[in-house]
Amino acid sequence: MEAVPEYFGSLVFDDRVMKASLSAEVYQSLRKTIEEGVRLNHGVADAVAQAMRDWAVARGATHFTHWFQPLTGVTAEKHDSFISPSPDGGVIMEFSGRELIQGEPDASSFPSGGLRATFEARGYTAWDPTSYAFIKDKTLCIPTAFCSYSGEALDKKTPLLRSMEALNRQALRILRLFGSDTVKRVITCVGPEQEYFLIDAKMFEQRRDLRFTGRTLFGARPPKGQEMDDHYFGAIKPRVAAYMADLNDELWRLGILAKTQHNEVAPAQHELAPIYTTNNIATDHNQLTMEIMQKVAARHGLVCLLHEKPFAGVNGSGKHNNWSMSTDTGSNLLSPGDTPHENAQFLLFLCAVIKAVDDYQDLLRISVSTAGNDHRLGANEAPPAVVSIFVGDELSGVLKAIEQDAPYEGVEKTKIRLGVDALPKFRRDTTDRNRTSPFAFTGNKFEFRMLGSANSIACANIMLNTAVAESLRIYADRLEGAEDFETALHEMIRRTIKDHKRIIFNGNGYDGDWIKEAVEKRGLLNYPATPDCVPHLLDRKNIQMLTSHGVYSMQELASRYEVTLENYCKTVIIEANTMVDMARTEIIPAVEAFLLDTARAAAAKKELVPGCPCEYETGLVKRLSGLVDQMAARTGELEQAVADLSRAGDIGSEAAAIRDRVLPGMSQLRLACDEAETLTARKYWPFPTYGDLLFGVR
Ligand code: ADP
Ligand code: MG
Repeated sequence: MEAVPEYFGSLVFDDRVMKASLSAEVYQSLRKTIEEGVRLNHGVADAVAQAMRDWAVARGATHFTHWFQPLTGVTAEKHDSFISPSPDGGVIMEFSGRELIQGEPDASSFPSGGLRATFEARGYTAWDPTSYAFIKDKTLCIPTAFCSYSGEALDKKTPLLRSMEALNRQALRILRLFGSDTVKRVITCVGPEQEYFLIDAKMFEQRRDLRFTGRTLFGARPPKGQEMDDHYFGAIKPRVAAYMADLNDELWRLGILAKTQHNEVAPAQHELAPIYTTNNIATDHNQLTMEIMQKVAARHGLVCLLHEKPFAGVNGSGKHNNWSMSTDTGSNLLSPGDTPHENAQFLLFLCAVIKAVDDYQDLLRISVSTAGNDHRLGANEAPPAVVSIFVGDELSGVLKAIEQDAPYEGVEKTKIRLGVDALPKFRRDTTDRNRTSPFAFTGNKFEFRMLGSANSIACANIMLNTAVAESLRIYADRLEGAEDFETALHEMIRRTIKDHKRIIFNGNGYDGDWIKEAVEKRGLLNYPATPDCVPHLLDRKNIQMLTSHGVYSMQELASRYEVTLENYCKTVIIEANTMVDMARTEIIPAVEAFLLDTARAAAAKKELVPGCPCEYETGLVKRLSGLVDQMAARTGELEQAVADLSRAGDIGSEAAAIRDRVLPGMSQLRLACDEAETLTARKYWPFPTYGDLLFGVR
C-alpha cells in the first residue's frame, strides 16, 4: 500500500511540480503571478503550458478543460483533446500558453440572468493561477473565471476573487496604521464542513422524487427516526467506512485536505471536513469534493444526497463555513494577541466583522438562499433565518466593559484602555457549544452556519468578505485622518459595540422567543423564504456597497437577482410536477388497489361468515376512499397552482406565488398521501419508505 504522503496531491500541478518542471526564471515569474497578480507574459505562459501538458500526458491525461463555476452552482467543463495531427499521419500532443490562459466555451445555455444577449453568447474563461491545475478523469482541469465578452462575470469565482482583493486592500490599510510594513497580503481562509446523506442506489432508483429533485416529496415518518441519538458520532458501518476510505483517497490525490469524518445526527447522515485553506482554493475544493462524493458513491452502490432536506422530519444537511483573515506572514487577524497592541488590532478586526454582519444581515441571508435551504433555516435543526452573532459570555463581558468604560469583571478587575492595556485574560470560547447560532466566533475564526449543504460557498464568502472590507474601509478612512490614533481607535471600537450590539446574541437561537425579541425589540431582519430576501439584493445600500468595492457591477447584481429567483422557481416547479405525477400514477393507483382488495376481502368474508359485520374492512375502505378523493382533488389543485404561474408576470411575483400557493399546495397533497401510506399494506406501496431509505445501508 502506498503511504498517503507519497500520493497526496499526485494529480495536482502544485508548487512541487512547478519547481521541478519549470526553469528557475519561468518559475519565478509564475510565482509572481500567483502571489501578486502580475500578468503572465506569453513566453512564460507557453513554457508553463508545455510543462503542464508533459506532466498531465505522463499521467494518462488525453484532454484539457477550463474548469469553471457558472451561476448554476455546479462546475462546468468542456473537454478538448491535446491531439494535433502531424504530417506523417500521426498525432502530437499540443497545448499552448494561449489555450492555458484563455478559453471560449460555447456557453450560451448557462444562466446569465439577461447579462448576455444571444448574439454575444460566447463567454470566455480565464485562468486563475492561484488555484492549481489538476487531473480528473484523464483530463487536465484548469481552474478558470468565466466572463462575458463585455467583461461581466458570469460565474461565482470572479466576484469571489474580487471580494478577496477588496478585503485585502482595506485590511492592508489597517495593518499599515498599526505599523506593520512587512505584510504584503491579507487573505481569507475557509474550512467548510460538508454534511451529506448516503442511501442505497437501488432504492434511490425506485423513487422518482429522489431522482428528479434530490429529495423525497412523500414519506410517512418511520417508527424509528433520530430520537435515540444513536447515530451521531456512532460507529461507522462497514459499507460507509469503505466509501469514506475510497473518498479520502481520491480527495488526497487531488490535494484536498480531507481531515475529519463522522456520522451526523440523522440516520444515514455524515460529515466531512477539510483543513482550512485560502478562500478561492477552499471553494474550488468544496465543489470538487461534492462532485467526487457523488462519483465515489456510485462505485459503492450508494447515492450521496447533497440536498438540504432530503427527508421531512429528519435533520437536513448544512455546511459550516469557518472563516478567518490572515496575513501572508502567517498571523491570524482574528486571534486575540498577547500584547496590548495586538489586542487592539484583534478587537478592531473583530468589530469590523460585527459591524459587517449587522449592516449586511440581508446579504448574508441572501447568499445562502435556495429552495432547498429554505426547508432548514428556522426549522429547529439549523440556525434561524434571523442572522445574529455568538461571541460567548467572556468576550461579551469584555465588549461590554469597553462600551461602558467600566471595569471588566473577569479574572482581575481592570478598566480596558485600548492600546494601553493588554486584554484581560478571558476564557476563549473555542467550543461548538452553541450550535444554534448562525454566526459564531469560535476562538480565532467565525463559523457561518446558515449555508445549505448544496450551496456553493462562493456566495456566502463574497458577501462576507465585501461587507467586512466595507467596515475596514470606514475604519481606515477615519483612522488615517485622526489626530491621535489611539484615542480615535478606542472611540471607534466603543462606537461599533454601542451601535451594533443588537446583533450579538449568546442564547438559544432555536427559541421562538428569540425570534420575537430579535425582530420586535432589536429590529433584526427575518426573511424566512428566498422570495422574501432576494429582492433586497437590489436595495440601494447593498448595490452601493458592492459596486463601490468593485465586487459586482449593477448589471451583475441584476443578473444574480434573476438567476437566484429563476433557480428557486424552476426547482419548486419540478418538485410540484413530480408530486402530481407520482400521486396520479403511483400513489393513488396503489391505494386504490389495496382498497379494492380490502373490499373484496370483506365481500368474501361475508359469504363465508353470514352476518359478519366486517367493521375493520368497511372502516378502512371508507377512510382510504376518502383519502383517495382528497389526493385526487389536491393533485388537481396543485396542478392548477403551477399552471397559474404563467400569469405571474415577472420573476419576483412568480417566486412569491410559488411561496404562497405552490408550496402550501405541495404540503397539502403530501399530508393526504403520507396518511394513506400509514394505512396501506406494505406490499402495495409503490416505492421504498423512509424506514427503508434511512436504515437501508448496513
Ligand atoms: P469543529 O468543532 O466545528 O469541528 P474544528 O476546529 O474542527 O471545529 O474546525 C472545523 C473547520 O474549521 C475545519 O475545516 C478547520 O480546518 C477550520 N478552521 C480551523 N481554524 C480555522 C481558521 N483559522 N480559519 C478558517 N478555518 C479554520
Ligand atoms: Mg463546526
